[in-house]
Amino acid sequence: MDSRDNFDPKILGGSVKRGIVNPDLLEERAKCNFNQREMVLFLFDEQPTEYIEKINKMIVEHPELQTGIEYYEMSREEKLKLWYRRYRIIMEDAEMSKLITDNSRKVNEHFNWSYLLPGLSPLTLHMSMFTDSLKTFCSEEQKAHYIPQADNLNIIGCYAQTELGHGSNVAGLETTATYDEKTEQFVIHSPTIKAAKFWPGALGV
Ligand SMILES: Cc1cc2nc3c(=O)[nH]c(=O)nc-3n(C[C@H](O)[C@H](O)[C@H](O)COP(=O)(O)OP(=O)(O)OC[C@H]3O[C@@H](n4cnc5c(N)ncnc54)[C@H](O)[C@@H]3O)c2cc1C
Repeated sequence: MDSRDNFDPKILGGSVKRGIVNPDLLEERAKCNFNQREMVLFLFDEQPTEYIEKINKMIVEHPELQTGIEYYEMSREEKLKLWYRRYRIIMEDAEMSKLITDNSRKVNEHFNWSYLLPGLSPLTLHMSMFTDSLKTFCSEEQKAHYIPQADNLNIIGCYAQTELGHGSNVAGLETTATYDEKTEQFVIHSPTIKAAKFWPGALGV
């Protein structure tokens, strides 16, 4: 049994809990003989790299956005609540929310800011698919109404394409969405068991 006092990284390696990097890793990193920034720019390009660096700085400057070891002991529900709290903190800060919303479209194919925080964000598809679809398909009037609500999480969207019997075969999807003028709502109808929606991963739950 190791205690905090007799923990020897040479024998036991690194420890996230103790903030100790494995000595083998440190040794290998010290051998790096190329310019790391040049390599990053080669792999990701200038604009996404600058964006990632700004997001990183933002996380460092806001302790509420940082995650400690306790994250790994949290229940799924606690993790989801933590994500929503983080997202609110970001969006309530004018500078941070501008950075995220102005750039999410431009850099999305390269990088999503949420990858910098541990765990899978329940809001990735809300931001990348749902909010992006509003930006692409809405009229100006609809944009003015829906996008601020999506940005501040008053409405949360998901991506529910896949059906139990239709994954890659999107042409075979059976579920229909029919607008009902009387109720001003869409009626969603999945006629068979094969049409049941499946894998709507970031459903916002
Ligand atoms: C972690 C995770 C999160 C997901 N989140 C979402 C989500 O939020 N919303 C959502 O709608 N879906 C989501 N999905 C579903 C995902 O989009 C589907 O898994 C995907 O569309 C593939 O469908 P399938 O798994 O049924 O595979 P299938 O379509 O059954 O394919 C199985 C295999 O057959 C191959 N294949 C299929 N068709 C052909 C063809 N015509 N020719 C040659 N090869 C073929 C495929 O390449 C694959 O290797 C998620 C999946 C995962 C794993």
